[in-house]
Parts: sequence; C-alpha cells; structure tokens
Amino acid sequence: MKIDLSGKTALVTGSTAGIGNAIAKGLAATGAEVVVNGRGRAKVDAAVAAIAQAVSGAKVRGVAADVSTAAGCKALLAALPEVDILVNNAGIFEPKGFFEIPDEDWSRFFEVNVMSGVRLSRGYMQGMLKRNWGRIVFISSESGLNIPTEMIHYGMTKTAQLAIARGLAELTRGTAVTVNSVLPGPTMSEGVETFVKDLAKQNGQSVEEAAANFVKQHRPTSLLQRFASTEEIANLVVYACSKQASATNGAALRAEGGIVNTIA
Ligand code: NAD
Repeated sequence: MKIDLSGKTALVTGSTAGIGNAIAKGLAATGAEVVVNGRGRAKVDAAVAAIAQAVSGAKVRGVAADVSTAAGCKALLAALPEVDILVNNAGIFEPKGFFEIPDEDWSRFFEVNVMSGVRLSRGYMQGMLKRNWGRIVFISSESGLNIPTEMIHYGMTKTAQLAIARGLAELTRGTAVTVNSVLPGPTMSEGVETFVKDLAKQNGQSVEEAAANFVKQHRPTSLLQRFASTEEIANLVVYACSKQASATNGAALRAEGGIVNTIA
C-alpha cells in the first residue's frame, strides 16, 4: 500500500516535538503539504527546517499559535483558513493526586487538551464537508479508557476527546470526511522523556530501568512491555489520514501496546 497525500494540506497541532512532530514528518513523507504548529516562532522554524532536511521534497511550513486559547485558535484559523487534514495532537499531562489538583488545573487541562480540538474542528470541518473530503484525528490516549489514578484530570480530557470525535463522525454521514481518534499508550516523546528522567533521578536508576519499571508498575497489562516510539504512533495516524482509510470512521484506534484488556 502506498500512501500518497500529495495535494492535501495537513495541520498537526503541537508538532514541534514528540508524537506531533513524528506525525508531521510522516505526513510530509506522503507528499502532503504539512503545517507545523507550536507556541513559539523559534521552535516552529526549527521543526520546519528539521522536517525539510529529513524528508526529501517535503512541503512544510509553520504557524506559531497557542491552541489552548480561543485567541490562539482564531489566529491559527486566520493564518490557515482551510485544511484537508487536521490532527488535534497538542496536549499536556502531569501526574498529580486527585486531592492536590486545584480547579485551575482542571480548567487548564480542559482548555489545552479538549477545547483546542473543539475550536479547530469547528473552524475546519465545514470546509471539509463542503469539499467532500477530509480527515480529523484526535490524539487521545489509553488513559481515556483506563483512567490513571495519578492524573484523573488528564484521563477526563482524553475520554472527552473520544466523545467529541465520535460525535463529529456522526456529522459526516454519507460524505468522504472521517473523524477518528488514535489512542497511544506510554510513548517516548520529549515530554515523557523529561518525566522518565526525573523518575530515574528520584529512584537512582538509569533512564532505561525507570522506563521499564514504569510500564511494569503503572501499566502492568501492557503486552508491548515497553514505551512505544513516536514513529510507532505516527504510523497509525498517517494511515488514519490516508485515502485508503476511507471506511474507518468514528473509530477509536489503539496504538497502546495492548494495555487495554478488552477485545473491543
Ligand atoms: P510532548 O510534550 O512531547 O509534545 C507536545 C507538543 O505540543 C510540543 O511540541 C509542545 O510545544 C506542543 N504544545 C503544548 N501545548 C501547546 C499549545 N498550547 N499550543 C501549541 N502547541 C502546544 O507531548 P507528547 O507526549 O508528544 O504528546 C502529544 C499528544 O499525545 C498529547 O495529546 C498527549 O496527551 C498524547 N499522548 C501521549 C502519550 C505519551 O506517552 N507520550 C500517551 C498517550 C497520549
């Protein structure tokens, strides 16, 4: 199967690092015109340059905008009024016990992880329906199904994304627009690497030991028994964005190494 998305424009939010960056790179390799997004101009420019260097013939540019605010989404929509593919990837996580999570954290997590995707889907999806082709992918998490006790607020946002993606898919009936979510499990992104390095330091372990212990202790049902790479997640996302994935709609697609111990 050859995935060819030339002629299509793809926006990946939060793509200066981590899973989003791997998705942007993967989509660039399919010939799509990729728009990288992050909050700061310098990091966006660096990510654009790195993708242009890594993928020969890549069509890539960047828009700096903070997608966690209504103003940031408005600015992004003004700079880029139409896309064929929208990957709602930008997201934050932070382990914190339930009794320590203040109201502000609940609101902040909801704004970054949920409202960014709501606002951008509202801005882009009508154009996709009018042109009768489009792909929207929400990067949720297995934490949206197995709510982690160490960050219930994060789990809440990841379940909310599943609900929104399924609801939006209902609006595509009879068209060639699809809306799906992808559920990664523990993935060695830049954000997670920092978290694992802190764990390693706290416990006097190597980074590899801390990563292996995290999976054993906190995700014991994992069949993969290790962190996934960002490319392993990006592969499924690129497929979900492909023309070949036309019959996959309203689905919660898993790339979580088998942590979720149910068949469907
Ligand atoms: P990361 O921290 O490594 O990268 C996140 C990227 O988003 C960075 O480029 C950051 O600058 C950008 N970003 C953050 N807030 C932003 C904002 N307000 N506006 C624009 N850009 C912003 O994160 P990651 O681990 O790659 O996670 C990406 C997504 O995958 C998140 O939605 C996360 O919930 C999900 N996810 C990650 C894992 C994991 O283990 N890494 C597992 C399941 C789901």
